[in-house]
Amino acid sequence: MEFVGSEGQAKLAESHAFIVGVGALGCVSADLLVRAGVGKVTIVDRDLVELSNLHRQPLYCERDATEKRPKAMAAKSRLNAVNSGVEVVAHIADFTAENALELVQSEGRVPDVLIDGTDNFETRFLLNDCSVKLGVPYVYGGAIASRGSAAVFVPGSGPCLRCIEPNPPKPGTQPTCETAGVLAPVSSIIGSYQAAEAMKILMGQHDRVMESMLSFDLWEGTRTRVDLSSAQDAECPCCGLVRFAFLESQSSVPQALCGQNAVQVKPGGAGMIDLEQLGASLGESGEFEVHDYMIRGRIEHGGDVFELTCFADGRAIVDGTADVGVARAIYSRYIGS
Ligand SMILES: [Zn+2]
Repeated sequence: MEFVGSEGQAKLAESHAFIVGVGALGCVSADLLVRAGVGKVTIVDRDLVELSNLHRQPLYCERDATEKRPKAMAAKSRLNAVNSGVEVVAHIADFTAENALELVQSEGRVPDVLIDGTDNFETRFLLNDCSVKLGVPYVYGGAIASRGSAAVFVPGSGPCLRCIEPNPPKPGTQPTCETAGVLAPVSSIIGSYQAAEAMKILMGQHDRVMESMLSFDLWEGTRTRVDLSSAQDAECPCCGLVRFAFLESQSSVPQALCGQNAVQVKPGGAGMIDLEQLGASLGESGEFEVHDYMIRGRIEHGGDVFELTCFADGRAIVDGTADVGVARAIYSRYIGS
């Protein structure tokens, strides 16, 4: 049986995949889709590469980690080197209610598939809203500890994420990659499932697209498949009642970054900022380097030293603390809000 063929290859070359998050899952799906010759791949990521990422995030190397490169940029360089025939569009950004629709449509038309590479609930529900609102298939993936799951939600021909899971779990009730870790082969398999499902969608092989939620535990060697073909709920708050609560939410709280002694701060309503000007003003408080897309330096605050990285969209990562209050105080004091 032919899976791709010349006709499929031509369809892939004309298509656009949009991946949110190039961590453990997104690295794998982005790599496979770029190697497959998908015409355009957009990646969105807010994080910096850390040494602790390398065991499960195959687009990065030690140098990316020691230089703390933004994942979006490090991934783009690697993907360009893998296949120069693919247009890779990279955004260093947090995917939020404020910018989600703008980012998804930033190439002038909606992408052909949305892929969740972030493995966090806030983004999943936002992606689901984008998927239903714009009518773009959404490829879901999750990996935690030794367990993984994958599913595909195609608007108009089956359930959406909220038909089966109306609301995100309450914070603190689920294990996170911080508390439970992720076994690298699990994220590698889920990322591969996501790439395969995306390829079927992009090549128009809709009858092959998975209609179930697949879950497995790699350490236990168990596997389950839940049929979703009749799971569409007419009362679903998203696809049934056509309300996009996550796209309309305003929350913008500082977040501790998973597995790192660092906090991301982005005050609501922060617009684009002039990095050169900010670099000059921060120069009075410490040594700062100005790059094209960020400034970075060290500052002393309350007797401790923190590394501050600030991006053009007003977002900052405060490295050296997991305390969101401390990070917020540093942001207000040195960047202002
Ligand atoms: Zn639904």
